[in-house]
Amino acid sequence: MAKKQFKTESKRMLDLMIHSIYTNREIFLRELISNASDAIDKLYFRSLTDDGVALGRDDFRIDLSIDKEKRLLTVSDNGVGMTEEELDKNLGTIAKSGSRQFSEENETAKSDVDIIGQFGVGFYAAFMVADRVEVVSRAYGEAQAHRWQSAGADGYTISDAERGAAGTDVILHIRESTPETDYDEFLESCRVEALVKKYSDYIRYPIRMALEHSRKKEGSEDEYETYTEVETVNSMVPLWKKAKSEIAEADYEKFYQERFHAYDKPLRVIHQKAEGTTSYQALLFIPEKADYNYYSKTYEKGLALYSSGVKIMDKCAELLPDCFSFVKGVVDSEDLSLNISREMLQQDHQLKVIARALEKKIKKELADMLEKDRDKYELFWKSFGLQLKYALYSTFGGERELLEDLLLFTRASDSKLCTLQEYCGAMPEGQKYIYYAAGESVEKLHMLPQAETVRDHGYDILFLTDDVDEFLMQILHAHGEKEFRSISGGDLGLESESEKKEHEEKAEAGKPLFEAMQKALDGKVGEVKLSTRLKTHPVCLSSKGAMSIEMEKVLAAMPNAENAPKAERVLELNGEHPVYAALTAAFEAGDTQKVGEYAKLLYDQACLLEGLSVDDPVAFSEAVCKLMQ
Ligand code: ADP
Ligand code: MG
Repeated sequence: MAKKQFKTESKRMLDLMIHSIYTNREIFLRELISNASDAIDKLYFRSLTDDGVALGRDDFRIDLSIDKEKRLLTVSDNGVGMTEEELDKNLGTIAKSGSRQFSEENETAKSDVDIIGQFGVGFYAAFMVADRVEVVSRAYGEAQAHRWQSAGADGYTISDAERGAAGTDVILHIRESTPETDYDEFLESCRVEALVKKYSDYIRYPIRMALEHSRKKEGSEDEYETYTEVETVNSMVPLWKKAKSEIAEADYEKFYQERFHAYDKPLRVIHQKAEGTTSYQALLFIPEKADYNYYSKTYEKGLALYSSGVKIMDKCAELLPDCFSFVKGVVDSEDLSLNISREMLQQDHQLKVIARALEKKIKKELADMLEKDRDKYELFWKSFGLQLKYALYSTFGGERELLEDLLLFTRASDSKLCTLQEYCGAMPEGQKYIYYAAGESVEKLHMLPQAETVRDHGYDILFLTDDVDEFLMQILHAHGEKEFRSISGGDLGLESESEKKEHEEKAEAGKPLFEAMQKALDGKVGEVKLSTRLKTHPVCLSSKGAMSIEMEKVLAAMPNAENAPKAERVLELNGEHPVYAALTAAFEAGDTQKVGEYAKLLYDQACLLEGLSVDDPVAFSEAVCKLMQ
C-alpha cells in the first residue's frame, strides 16, 4: 500500500505534537470529542431534510471504549463520517485556518509548546498520547468504509475497511509510559470520565462509556464484585443554556461554588443570552468576597470561553476589563472558532464585541445593585472597591465613564458610605467644592482640626482612607461641575468678601512673625501663615502644590522610597486663638528665643495632629515640661 505524505504545514504540526513536551496532553480528548460532535451535528442537520437518515435526535451519541490489554482508547461517533477522499483531505492537511496560522507562527518557536493548550489544535492532538492512530470511517450514504492509519510524521495509508453504519472510530494506540511521562492514565476509565466531565461536559450529545462499579456479592455480607455498566458521562445541557425560568437560585449557587471552588455566595448572578450579529450566552457571577490572592500578582482574571459547548479555555482574560477582574463566569458563543490562538484572540472581532457587551452589562448590574440593593453593594464595595479605584487611577481616569458613578466614600456627617452624586445632591447652596480629607482611619479624620471649620459651614467631607484615594482625587479633579478640594490644602472658599479682607490685613501684619518662625523651623516648612481653616485648634499643617502630606506618607511606605517626592509643608496658625496672641506678644517684645521655641512646639503639635511622628520626641517633651515650670 502506497504511503502518502502529509502536507508540509501538517507535518510541522504533527512533529510538534509528537515531540511535544507539553504537559497538558489531556486536551486531545476534548479535540476528538468535539470533532465527533461536529460530525453528528452535520448528520443531524441533514436528517432534518433527508428522510434517508434513519436516526432521530436521541439516537446520536459518542462512545468511548478502552482496551487496556491492547492499549487502545477509541472515540466512536455515528455522525456523518468521511469518504476516502475526505479522509485524505481532512486528515492529511490542516483544514482550518486557525491551525494553519498556528503552524506558521510556530515554525521557529517550537519550544513554545505551552500555547498548545490555549486553543484547539484539532485532530493531530491525538499524537500527543498515541504512537499510532487509526481512523475507521464510513461516510453517510456510502457502503464502503475506509481505514486511515498513521504512526506519525512519515506519512499515512488509507485502505478499505468494514463498518456497519455511517460514523467514525478514532482508535488511539496509547504510548507506553516512560519514567518521565505517564500515558497509562488514559487507559483508566475513571480518569477518562473525569476528562470528559472537565472539558466536554456540555457537549449536546451523550458521551457514553463503560464504567466499573462495585457491589456486594449476592448472598454475601462482606464480599464485593465489580461490574461494568455503560453510562452517559456528560450532563449535556449547560446551565447557561437553560432558560432562566428553569433555574433555581440554588442551582446558580451550586454551579458557582463547584465551578470556581468558591465558599461564598455570589452577590449577583448575571445570566445573559444575547442574540444579534454576535450571539452568545454568558453566566457571570459577582462574588461577595475577594479571592485570597485577588490583590496580588498571582491572581489571574478571565472567563471560561466555550464555543458551542466545547471549552476553548479556562480563563480568557480578553473578556474582562481590569476593573471588573473579580467577575467569574462562562461565555459560550457559536460564533467563535474552536481553533483560535491566544494571539488571534486579541484581534478577534467577535470576542471584542462580546467583551464590550459584557463590560456594559456588568456596569449596569453593579449600578442596579447600588440603587436597589444597597447593603449588598456595600458588601461588594468592601471586597472590590479598591480594585475599581485602582483601575480608575491606573488608566488616568480613562475608565471614568464606567466607574465614577460606582465609587463610594465615607462621609463625615454620619460616617456612612455615599456616592459622589449623593454627596453633591446634599450640598447646601453656596458650597463651591467637594471637600475631602485623607488619613489613616475615619476615627482619626474626625479629629482633624481642619475639619471643624468646613463642618461648621454645614458642608460635608469625604473621608479617604485608602492609599490610592488622594491620587485618584487628583486625577478625577472634579465631579461634574464641582472640584475636589482637600481640607488640608489650598483655598477652601469658605470666607465672605469682608472676612477675606480682614484676614488679608491680619496676615499682612503678621508677616514678620511668620518669617521669624519659619527661620526658627529651619527648612521644615515652606511657609508659615495665617489659617482660614481653623476654629478651635491653634495650629495645623497643610501643603502647597500637588503633593499632600498623606500622599507623601503613601509614597514613603513604598519600596525604594529614598527619593520619593515630599510635600511642601505649610504651618498654619489660628489668628483667633490665645496662642496666637502669646506669639505676637513675644515677637513684639523682641524675645526671638521664645518665638523660636513656640514655633518648634507648635510645629510638633501640628505633626502629631496630622498623624506624623515628631522629629525629636525628647526635645518636644522637654519643651512641654519647660512650659509647665
Ligand atoms: P477542525 O475540527 O477544526 O476542522 P480537526 O483537525 O479537528 O480540525 O479536524 C479536521 C477535519 O477532519 C474536520 O474538519 C473534519 O472534516 C474531519 N474530521 C475529524 N474528525 C472527524 C469525525 N469524527 N467525523 C467526521 N469528520 C471528522
Ligand atoms: Mg476539531
